[in-house]
Amino acid sequence: MKKLISVIVPCYNEQEVLHMFYDEISRVAGEMSAYDFEFIFVNDGSRDNTLKICKELAEKDERVKYISFSRNFGKEAGIYAGFEKSKGDLVCMMDADLQDPPALLPEMVKAIEEEGYDSVATRRVTRKGEPPIRSFFARMFYKLMNKISKTEIVDGARDYRLMTRQFVNSLLDMGEYNRFSKGLFGWVGYNTKWLEYENVERAAGETKWSFWKLLLYSIEGIMAFSTVPLAISAVMGILFCIIAFAMILFIIGKTIMFGDPVAGWPSTACIILFVGGVQLFCVGILGQYLAKTYLEVKGRPIYICKETNIEE
Ligand code: UDP
Ligand code: MG
Repeated sequence: MKKLISVIVPCYNEQEVLHMFYDEISRVAGEMSAYDFEFIFVNDGSRDNTLKICKELAEKDERVKYISFSRNFGKEAGIYAGFEKSKGDLVCMMDADLQDPPALLPEMVKAIEEEGYDSVATRRVTRKGEPPIRSFFARMFYKLMNKISKTEIVDGARDYRLMTRQFVNSLLDMGEYNRFSKGLFGWVGYNTKWLEYENVERAAGETKWSFWKLLLYSIEGIMAFSTVPLAISAVMGILFCIIAFAMILFIIGKTIMFGDPVAGWPSTACIILFVGGVQLFCVGILGQYLAKTYLEVKGRPIYICKETNIEE
């Protein structure tokens, strides 16, 4: 029996690249004749012909499977759905836009099969072709994240990975709603080998991540893997109490010695505004965690599958 490799591809409006991607992955699969393959395309509520192309491919090639969502649930949900439906002994996830070169696959498989790793991850060492401001914020995010979270998150890590079935099952055991894969991968542990490569630009189509979407995603990451913001707000509270106490002592002393001519209301107003702002900020942090807890507690499904050609 040959071993089966599942390749999971989240697709959101990828009609321009899907054929190119399929050709490339089939070529690579053709070179790895020691393995069977299944390609799982997860159509994440695309508004273009992505689903149609998936179906056409599935008709031509029985290795092609598709899962189509009822709406756009996000890439994380797509990956989760792929993991759930995959049957492979080895499971690989990669983007549809050929930014994750399928040609690395043989090397990745070798690392697991021969070198005994549980997963092989990739990171790009350059951010060529990316707007500089985006690179700057991305770097800041990784720095901050690794300071305040115990889970290691590697700078430049891509969501291009090959994993053993055991690794995938561990990921599936984490059924949380707010999924931040880059953190989950670190959290489950195991031995991971890192391959490095130069950044490749998108083959066609355009990126689905606006700056704003990335910012929200990074906040999600911080909150999913760190409670340090909560501690910061607590520490800030204590700090301001101490300052206030010192000021009270100072004012009492001053009044006893020099009397109390009415003055200083502008500074009082400033202090009130400042402290009020800090309080709102801290309540806001609290609210964010509460909101996440609320979503988690509702226990909604991570995705809704509208149609698929995968039999249970
Ligand atoms: N993607 C998805 N759902 C989304 C956004 C993106 O499934 O809501 C997929 C997309 O089709 C692609 C991968 O996630 O295969 C990475 O997206 P993209 O290339 O736009 O991101 P970038 O490489 O620019 O970070
Ligand atoms: Mg991309």
